[in-house]
Amino acid sequence: MKEREIVIIGAGPAGLAAALGAKDKGAKDILIIERDQYLGGILNQCIHNGFGLHRFKEELTGPEYAQRYADMVKSAGIEISDRTFAVKITNKKEIFCLKPGEMMKLKAKAIILATGCRERTREMIPIHGFRPSGVYPAGLAQKMINIEGWIPGEEAVIIGSGDIGLIMARRMIFEGMKVKAVIEIMPKSRGLRRNIRQCLEDFSIPLYLSHKVTKIHGKERVEKVSVCKVDESFKEIKDTSFDIKCDTVLVSVGLIPENELLEAAGGLIDKKTNSPVCLKPYQTSIEGIFSCGNCNKVYDLVDWVSRDSYEAGGLAAMYANGELK
Ligand SMILES: Cc1cc2nc3c(=O)[nH]c(=O)nc-3n(C[C@H](O)[C@H](O)[C@H](O)COP(=O)(O)OP(=O)(O)OC[C@H]3O[C@@H](n4cnc5c(N)ncnc54)[C@H](O)[C@@H]3O)c2cc1C
Repeated sequence: MKEREIVIIGAGPAGLAAALGAKDKGAKDILIIERDQYLGGILNQCIHNGFGLHRFKEELTGPEYAQRYADMVKSAGIEISDRTFAVKITNKKEIFCLKPGEMMKLKAKAIILATGCRERTREMIPIHGFRPSGVYPAGLAQKMINIEGWIPGEEAVIIGSGDIGLIMARRMIFEGMKVKAVIEIMPKSRGLRRNIRQCLEDFSIPLYLSHKVTKIHGKERVEKVSVCKVDESFKEIKDTSFDIKCDTVLVSVGLIPENELLEAAGGLIDKKTNSPVCLKPYQTSIEGIFSCGNCNKVYDLVDWVSRDSYEAGGLAAMYANGELK
């Protein structure tokens, strides 16, 4: 089993910034493991601008922001193993990975988890109806449109008015789709004000606050959704139901930190948020296993992911060389 000083799992913005933080605090031997063939994580599918206003004082697209960090990591001489899937870690800080044609086993002085998050799906919110095609998590649809060049349908309804849902409303309009409505169960949108203005109001897309989708109609393909108004306790208000014809439903109802590796290693996980229980800053309940970025807590802006993950990387380096008590 090969011994390494610091192993970082995930080369999204969190993993890249953590590597730089570790390097700047004196770590000499850093390895980043990434299952994808590209660095930058989710940012690669976020082709809209608005990234880096705080970090670089510029308005960049997601891939541009990712490229800046990828370049910094490469010029710092930090080693990257791409197309490498971390399948298991242990509380002794062993890491087991699969890469094409090879099983890689490592032992690290410190591990940094930077595995991001996954989307909540339709199955996690109660909606009546069959399971027709045409229902997608919004981030998955974003990847399919922006990376695979694929259009999900003609007329869409979006459930949830967080930033990913709002960005996708505009994106589908740009691709020639009709966006009939965004349905939000809360009385207020969770999205940034600028996204509501630029992604909905500028395109006259109606936002129904305090409303919920009660049924998705259609057996093979989505045909329409039923929507109704809800009260403060999210109960349906009688006689307020109406239907919206559509062939596509995007579900944008939140993100869940990815912490299955940590959980299987015996690390404590907050069952409500799926975030790690950290006993010291960025350090999980297993000593020497650190966590940063969206797998630590769900962030709105990538700028803060970079800032905090840089700090986490520095602490992991201090732990690895015995400076962190
Ligand atoms: C769909 C979506 C849209 C967003 N849009 C915006 C936006 O418009 N503006 C903004 O500021 N922020 C946006 N964000 C938020 C911002 O992009 C995230 O906060 C940021 O990307 C989180 O960085 P991360 O490195 O923690 O996670 P990610 O970017 O998700 O990176 C995690 C990386 O870990 C890798 N990985 C995971 N598990 C393993 C494993 N077992 N082995 C090896 N590698 C692994 C993944 O392949 C990935 O590359 C968006 C987030 C999402 C999910």
